[in-house]
Amino acid sequence: MGVYRALKIRLPYRLVEERPDVLDLAVRMHLAAEEYARRLLKELTGQEELKLTPEELDALLTPDKKELAHRIIEETFPKYGLRKYFIDQAKVFWRDVVFHRMIPLNAQLRIENERDRSKAVFVDLKNGVIKVRRLEGTFVIRIREKTAKWIRERIAEGAKLKLAFLGIERQRGKREPTYRKFYVALVFAREVTPVEPRGVVAVDVNRLDHGIVAGLLVDGKLRHTLRLPGERAIKELKRLHEEISRLDERAAGEADPAKRRQLEDRVRYLKSKRYRKIRGVVKDVVGEIIKLAREHQAAIVVDTMEEETYRELKEGSWSGEKKHLLDGLGQLRRRLKELAEWYGLPYLEERLYSTVCPRCGAEMEELNNRRMRCPSCGFNDDRDNIPLLWAKRLYNELIAKAVAGAQTTSAQMALSQTQN
Ligand SMILES: [Zn+2]
Repeated sequence: MGVYRALKIRLPYRLVEERPDVLDLAVRMHLAAEEYARRLLKELTGQEELKLTPEELDALLTPDKKELAHRIIEETFPKYGLRKYFIDQAKVFWRDVVFHRMIPLNAQLRIENERDRSKAVFVDLKNGVIKVRRLEGTFVIRIREKTAKWIRERIAEGAKLKLAFLGIERQRGKREPTYRKFYVALVFAREVTPVEPRGVVAVDVNRLDHGIVAGLLVDGKLRHTLRLPGERAIKELKRLHEEISRLDERAAGEADPAKRRQLEDRVRYLKSKRYRKIRGVVKDVVGEIIKLAREHQAAIVVDTMEEETYRELKEGSWSGEKKHLLDGLGQLRRRLKELAEWYGLPYLEERLYSTVCPRCGAEMEELNNRRMRCPSCGFNDDRDNIPLLWAKRLYNELIAKAVAGAQTTSAQMALSQTQN
């Protein structure tokens, strides 16, 4: 089975200012890809602005649509000044352009002294630079130590550099579109044999603010429980949230415009700190869960809220703090899924209840201190343990599903799911 992982390398804004042609090309590629995808989907479905899941797109973009796709590419791309190289690339990857709304560029990785084959993106590990070509002049990006390490780890796992993207994200919420987050993404691929699961790592993700509980089950027995992240990370996040809402309130009540601006600047700084903090926490938590699952060749089963409950929470009157935690949970799930696929570990999302009695199925009551009690049979336990007891109860079913799922997993959306 082919699996993918992508590394996004953010470009410093200074570089972009020095080379407006690079930004210009990225924007033109983005607009051309968007228009092509929009037109193709409209011709195939008769509808405008429809939101399709990766699975629906996959089912829609069958090989017989290739000619239509090619024709639209030929009509669209020249309007954005994109010539033969980009047209040819888009034709080869006509489906990927629709999935990612970007044009894949061909790429080469030099580890030692391999000959430079003049690909559009040349990742030269030996000299520590990435060269982006097909521009007015070659654009050179330094490879940071962290990036080089990430690439070497993937190579050690048997991956190859497949292609690259020059990407840009459109800033939302503004009338005139502005662009930010300018990056080069490198897509690595490898073949992996799906793991025959010998256990289950059940993950209860519903409350990032209380921490995440993951339990390892082997032969239907709970063998090990992880509580993530550490107390300290949770406290620190809480403190950040509190400071942000306090300053937000003070800013709202401040009459002096200069002082108010100062407070708002501080809030903005803290919010971006919180964003990075949540990302860091997610990364660590996922790392621990994947490690446990790999050690025991276990399938990963993530508790999922009903889609509707999730939407209600997200759109409801929840405070900013909770919304951030929910976004963090979304990130966590995407990242877990992506890494599970990369290592061939089966990944499932299943409802593991935390308020339904795992013994008799009755709705449980919450006593104090997160203790749950079943009014019907008297069973009681810590709220965090209930989902793991459900995983235990469903163990054979979960293993059977994981085995079946291992044969059908697809990893098309590697790029959009990835944060470096
Ligand atoms: Zn009960």
